[in-house]
Parts: sequence; structure tokens; C-alpha cells
Amino acid sequence: MNFEAFGFNPQVAAGIKEAGYAVPTPIQVQAIAPVMENRDVMGMAQTGTGKTAAFVLPILHRLMKGQKGGIRALILAPTRELAEQTHQAIGVLGRKTGLKSATVYGGVGITPQIQKLKKVDIVVACPGRLLDHIGRRTANLSKLEVLVIDEADQLFDMGFFPDIKKILTHLPKQRQTLLFSATMPAEIRKLAADILQNPATVQV
Ligand code: AMP
Repeated sequence: MNFEAFGFNPQVAAGIKEAGYAVPTPIQVQAIAPVMENRDVMGMAQTGTGKTAAFVLPILHRLMKGQKGGIRALILAPTRELAEQTHQAIGVLGRKTGLKSATVYGGVGITPQIQKLKKVDIVVACPGRLLDHIGRRTANLSKLEVLVIDEADQLFDMGFFPDIKKILTHLPKQRQTLLFSATMPAEIRKLAADILQNPATVQV
């Protein structure tokens, strides 16, 4: 299996070269095709498996095709460290796409985030601060096409599910939803059943 087989557009393919990835990891082999088909995906994978690129690459491919304008992809992450890592990965893999991402998390000034939120395509956010932006009307999610809930088990353990449920009420019903988790306790299966439609299930 090689990356050419997925049929990424040239700008995304350039990002894979930029990152120096030669062959897709097992989670990428399993998850990229259904995500590119705009299907919902339930992915069981730990950090270190290449799960970030498994969703970032097909999201970049999708966003290159559609109508530009507004926040089109949202990635929810449990910690600012993971949010920053994912944002960095988007920076490398998306360098040639012209697509922009920003991070949103608490403990830092809100004003620079407000400025960035006006002009980005992708937001990588911790739930609490994102809700703050939604309340202030500084994050308009009405154009959202793809939602990723990354490390769902960590988000649950850190008590973020009530915030996530509030965020969900502000998102378009018609969207693609991807949920990744290292473990699959009952709470995560329940969330998946509630928000994923006919998901492809992938596991490494
Ligand atoms: P993640 O599990 O997404 O945190 O990724 C773990 C590490 O693997 C990161 O440093 C990625 O840049 C790297 N990585 C992801 N996909 C590949 C690949 N196909 N080939 C080589 N390294 C990769």
C-alpha cells in the first residue's frame, strides 16, 4: 500500500512528501478511504499510530474541493498540547493547500484567538474555550463540514462531555463526524451511537 493509491490532490500529496512519510501506517490504511468517502468513522487507535494524519490528510483533501469560507473543520482535543501537535501536523501536511488552522484553548489571551477565528478553515480546540467563543459569537460554526472528536476517552475522563454536548447543538446536523479513542468504554460507545451515522469502524 502506498499513499498514491488514495488519490489525494497534488497539494495534499506534496504535504505527505514534506512530512517525509513513505508508506501509510495501519490506521491510515484503514481510515483514509472511508474518511475520503465522507463517511463517519469510529477509530480505535492510540497516539503514536499515525492517527492524526489519518484524519488530517482526507480533511485537507475534502476542504480543497469545496466552497471556501468560514470554519469548515473542527477538531476537539482534550489538552492544549494535543491541540498544538495537531495544529503543527496540519501546518506541515497542509503547507501547499493554502488552508489555515488555529488553536483554541484556555489559559491564554482570547483576543488573538478571536482575530484568527475570522480567517481560518480548520480549528483545533479544547471544548471549554471553544464554548466561550461560541457564547461570545466569535466562532461561527454554521459552515462546518467535518467534526473530529480526538482522544474521546481522555475528553470523557477530563469531564468535557457536557461541553461537547453543548458544542454539538451549534453544529450543522448534516456533517461528517469522526471519533477517535484509544479505549471504548460504555460512555464512548454511547456517544458514538448518538452522533455517528452508519460509521465505518477501524481498529489497530
Ligand atoms: P500520531 O499517532 O498521529 O501522534 O503520529 C505519531 C507520529 O508518527 C508523528 O510524529 C507523525 O508525524 C508520524 N507519522 C504519521 N504517519 C506516518 C507515516 N505514514 N510514516 C511515518 N511517520 C508517520
